[in-house]
Amino acid sequence: MSKMIYLDHAATTRTLPEVAAAMEPYQDIYYGNPSTIYEFGEKSREAIEYARRVIAKTIRARPEEIYFTSGGTESDNWALKEAVHLYERVNHGKKGHILTTPVEHHAILNSCEELKQMGCGISYLHVDQSGRALLADAENAISEHEDVCLISVMYANNEIGTIEPVDELGRMAKKRQVLFHTDAVQAYGHLPINVQRDNIDMLSASAHKFGGPKGVGFLYIRKEINLPAFVHGGAQESNRRAGTENVPGIVGMGKAAELAHKRMRMESRKIRYLRDCLAYRILQEIEDVVMTGSRRYRLANNASFCFKGITGEAAAILLDTQGICVSSGSACSTGSLEDSHVLTAIGIESEWAQGAIRITLGAENTKEEMDYVAEKIKMVVKDMRGH
Ligand code: PLP
Repeated sequence: MSKMIYLDHAATTRTLPEVAAAMEPYQDIYYGNPSTIYEFGEKSREAIEYARRVIAKTIRARPEEIYFTSGGTESDNWALKEAVHLYERVNHGKKGHILTTPVEHHAILNSCEELKQMGCGISYLHVDQSGRALLADAENAISEHEDVCLISVMYANNEIGTIEPVDELGRMAKKRQVLFHTDAVQAYGHLPINVQRDNIDMLSASAHKFGGPKGVGFLYIRKEINLPAFVHGGAQESNRRAGTENVPGIVGMGKAAELAHKRMRMESRKIRYLRDCLAYRILQEIEDVVMTGSRRYRLANNASFCFKGITGEAAAILLDTQGICVSSGSACSTGSLEDSHVLTAIGIESEWAQGAIRITLGAENTKEEMDYVAEKIKMVVKDMRGH
């Protein structure tokens, strides 16, 4: 098998051909600035508003609640930092307190660290062995700190695929009159999301995780929330996110959102089947391996394992020589051999955490590829263990 087998869809996805085709005219034909008054600019403006309507519908939001950003990282920074600003403004300079989890993406964790330096309180809720936030901990933290202004818990984890109890957290946040933000970068386009049902006040998403282009995303902000602007400048995005819009990117994200939601049910069924075939073989045919994350509350495309006695980093490099792309942890933090913060938080010992491999499937993968990958992983693990 000489072609590359791409199994790192949590890191990024291929821009779908339909998406690339939808974007193209907005690069070289309708290139007008959407803020201009002449008709040529109107084309770009219409395309942006169309994408906004499509995206709003997918999460049961109103179009005016969708704000385009440069991606998941910006959306996360905006939600957290400006929720704290908002609290500060309303409460005469009091800094507020955020509840989050230790398994979040670094876009959240490092934003929290920054806010902590500025005097904001941060509490990390405990998670169970599968990485799900403990609700009792959230209840206790809200009772203990009277200045809790935000709960931010991811929709689904980027390393182990665990889906968090977003519905219950949303209900609790509403009852206790605390804002609720969820980083849905790994979930949007893969799971049905309903911000009304789940009482979500703010939600981050990123186009390149669901077949769209890189460098574009959105933040949903519930209409009633007066979240201050994060990027200051022109009047774009209703004065809330300045800067000339990434028109082709936004058009592409709208198209990708439409396709992802149309195909979600069929694709996730296929992907789950392939994932289960691969996981079954790995767990049956290799010794000293555990599958990390939840069996029940799990993204269909995620298969993450810890192999005792190997390093995931070296295994990923060896698999690359066999034409297989997998990750040894979070793509954003590769390059360091520290144990993954997610695996540490769910209680995986270093001896196992060092051997972490994350496999994330996409709709283009095949059963034949799964069989090939299972064989190659067996071979690599055997070679690395020396037996
Ligand atoms: N949040 C999660 C859960 C992610 O997985 C990622 C990317 O891997 C991000 C945020 C950052 O998104 P972006 O790459 O669009 O900045």
